[in-house]
Amino acid sequence: MEWQQATCYLNGEFVPLASARIPVLDRGFIFGDGVYEVIPVDQVRPGFSAPFRAHEHFDRFDRSLAAVRIANPLARDEWLRLLARLVELHPWPRQSIYLQVTRGVARRDHVFPAGVTPTVFAVSSPWPAIAADQIENGTAAVTHADERWLHCEIKSTSLLGNVLMKQFAIEHDATETVLFRNGFLTEGSSTNILVMRGGKLLAPQKSNLILPGITYDVVFEIARAHDLPCEVRTISEAEVRSADEILLSSSGREVLAITRLDGKPVGEGRPGPGFRRIHAWYQQAKRDAAVRWHAELQRLAVAV
Ligand code: PMP
Repeated sequence: MEWQQATCYLNGEFVPLASARIPVLDRGFIFGDGVYEVIPVDQVRPGFSAPFRAHEHFDRFDRSLAAVRIANPLARDEWLRLLARLVELHPWPRQSIYLQVTRGVARRDHVFPAGVTPTVFAVSSPWPAIAADQIENGTAAVTHADERWLHCEIKSTSLLGNVLMKQFAIEHDATETVLFRNGFLTEGSSTNILVMRGGKLLAPQKSNLILPGITYDVVFEIARAHDLPCEVRTISEAEVRSADEILLSSSGREVLAITRLDGKPVGEGRPGPGFRRIHAWYQQAKRDAAVRWHAELQRLAVAV
């Protein structure tokens, strides 16, 4: 099945993605007035694909919705059932589940409209395996000033700043742009950025300047569980440029080593020992989580 043949969920109904329609006055289209989530689903054993950290993604979704003052249209178990249904409807062993809620359809006016129903959209797409070459050799990144707004902790569909920064990377033979605000590391255009210095894992603290990544949390959780020294603090641009290792993290790319920054090698120019260990622990964390998803499906009384 091709991605275009997916079945999506739109306002309470499952419909073919190719025929799903929203009115042009949807505030998601007009203003980017909405929030979203992306949940990775990996095949942890033959015939069983499990979402990774679903509750954590829905917790963040709740926080994004609250931040933009849209009432969550579905209860947690309704979201979980919807997630399970989308996974089940598609044959892809690895899927990426996209969820979006917008403020709804109304006459164009910046002011929140009264009495509108939020638009709820969810779709699965195939999630290709992460390129072996990127795992083995790392990837290239460039840098740029962080020119986005001051509420990067909200997972808003208004992503123009991020889109421009991703395009900047691609046009400079890189796959990510590392952003600095006032001389300090924030994050990547669609990833969190962590560094290894002197055997210690460092990342910026969560604030309004970065998205609180689910993968970032997993990386710290597994690093602490394996007694890797960790510290969450502000990180200067100079510390990033002279780091032993630079890592990126996101649900879609998991954990990858950035081995070239602005065309210069990072450390030895190869993925380092910090990356290798964290990458292996991350794969194990996905397998461990699948056991919890199996139990969740039974609780929800969804056929497993
Ligand atoms: N920062 C930004 C700006 C992102 O878009 C993403 C990916 N959604 C991340 C960080 C990583 O978040 P997560 O680990 O939850 O995918």
